[in-house]
Amino acid sequence: LTPASYRGRFAPSPTGDLHLGSLLAAVASYLQAKQAGGSWLLRIEDLDPPRTVPGAAGRILRVLDAYGFEWSGEVLYQSDRHERYLAEIERLKSMGRLYGCACTRKEIAAIAHAGVDGPVYPGTCRGGLPAGVHPRAWRLRVDDVVIGYEDGVQGWQQQDLARLVGDFVLLRADGLVAYQLAVVVDDAEQGITDVVRGADLLDSTPRQIHLQQLLDFPSPGYAHIPVLVNDNGEKLSKQTLAQPLMVDGAATALVTALRLLRQSPPESLLRASVAEVWEWALAHWGMARLAGEKAIAIDA
Ligand code: GLU
Repeated sequence: LTPASYRGRFAPSPTGDLHLGSLLAAVASYLQAKQAGGSWLLRIEDLDPPRTVPGAAGRILRVLDAYGFEWSGEVLYQSDRHERYLAEIERLKSMGRLYGCACTRKEIAAIAHAGVDGPVYPGTCRGGLPAGVHPRAWRLRVDDVVIGYEDGVQGWQQQDLARLVGDFVLLRADGLVAYQLAVVVDDAEQGITDVVRGADLLDSTPRQIHLQQLLDFPSPGYAHIPVLVNDNGEKLSKQTLAQPLMVDGAATALVTALRLLRQSPPESLLRASVAEVWEWALAHWGMARLAGEKAIAIDA
């Protein structure tokens, strides 16, 4: 039996342009895949039309191309896949795993306690809705389980899913599919064996593993690299006015990303070509240098 070959991925949301923070996840996932002799896939997570910035997906792909990233196969767009997600939602419904919930955000906020990602739903609608009451959203009936896994950067992680997250929404009141469901369906469909992404998603991983178990999908390995933060400790994002990455200056930005990722690139690399930067990076890449770090200051 030969082990499945490594398939990594990068899955940006086109809610804005790529910036240095997103570049860290792209570079780390890419080097991890290439060093393993595997492939690297792309997915545009344009699941939420109101948050999608027109033209951003195209600019993200152009920048990745100019920066010398080579991806395998077609780019997957989540906006094309609504039917596919609904099919999995139907499958969970037929397993008795989903229930309709008629509670409003306000009602939930008034009675729920805080979890890792907003209020923990108290289960008001778990026993079914009274006749004539229409569901707003569909929630997953979460088992009373503690989900644990060994993270490639952060070490052993575990979460008491019922107490810290509770029954979470898979189909939203506005008809949109939740990220947690889409990402699990897509990682399975793209045959992803290893996920390398930012530590801001650490809290989501147990939800995703639970869904993989229920849907009978294999669980990839996970490694959560530190997120880039500004002087105020805020994650770099469009909201914190992160500079968009330009097609020009690729080599410099890549060297900066490698430095922030604790790879100690030599000064001379700043005068190198993009191809030379990748050659150096591939020969020297070691994700272990990030062990246990959850945040990196931008001017570190
Ligand atoms: N689309 C998510 C983001 O841009 C990443 C999701 C993931 O890597 O699972 O933050």
